[in-house]
Amino acid sequence: MVSILLVEDDDAIRTALQRGLGELGYAVASAATGLAGLEHVIRERPDAVMLDLGLPDVDGLTLISMIRAASDVPMIVITARDDDPTMVRALDRGADDYVVKPFGTEQVAARLRAVLRRGGRENAQATIRVGELVVDERTRTASLAGVPLELARKEFDVLFLLASRQGGVVTKRELLAEIWQQAYGGSERTVDVHLSWLRRKLGETAAEPRYLVSVRGVGVRLVDPQPEDVE
Ligand code: CA
Repeated sequence: MVSILLVEDDDAIRTALQRGLGELGYAVASAATGLAGLEHVIRERPDAVMLDLGLPDVDGLTLISMIRAASDVPMIVITARDDDPTMVRALDRGADDYVVKPFGTEQVAARLRAVLRRGGRENAQATIRVGELVVDERTRTASLAGVPLELARKEFDVLFLLASRQGGVVTKRELLAEIWQQAYGGSERTVDVHLSWLRRKLGETAAEPRYLVSVRGVGVRLVDPQPEDVE
């Protein structure tokens, strides 16, 4: 199990991320102060650290330097400050990536996978198979029954997100938040249009779905159209 340390003093964000990443299979520990976080890194050696820049006891930028002096653990900064100079300093001090609040769990998880992969720490589950559909995150390619699919960038993003949650319902709101970064506002019509393009490429229609099954009024899920029979 991949272990993540979350250093964040905001209870709501900490709880939400802990739950969200926990559901994705990560073991998430948390610290509400910078020094508690540093101690945890040294003692527990987590596989990755996510840290807020606005901490009560020590400035996040300073904490990045302190952690980096003690460990080469991948670090992702969580911040409300999306100003360039701060991010440049965070990266210069050894952070590997950052996410700007507000963000969705899927985005955070994708960035985690990326930094873990770069660090060679993830047993990369880069290829996802659902029936005859194969989606490869590393090469951003997908194929159906061995035939490559020609997907536009957003189409791939949608397909990958659905595949990584195969069988589970993903709401249009979530898709807007994760793929289009429109956590608030945005039109569900955008999602509908992309889903219909995806369906065409998968050789199916909304009326006769195979992989992409609409859940009326909720969203969509990606399923294996021919699950193996249990006899
Ligand atoms: Ca904070």
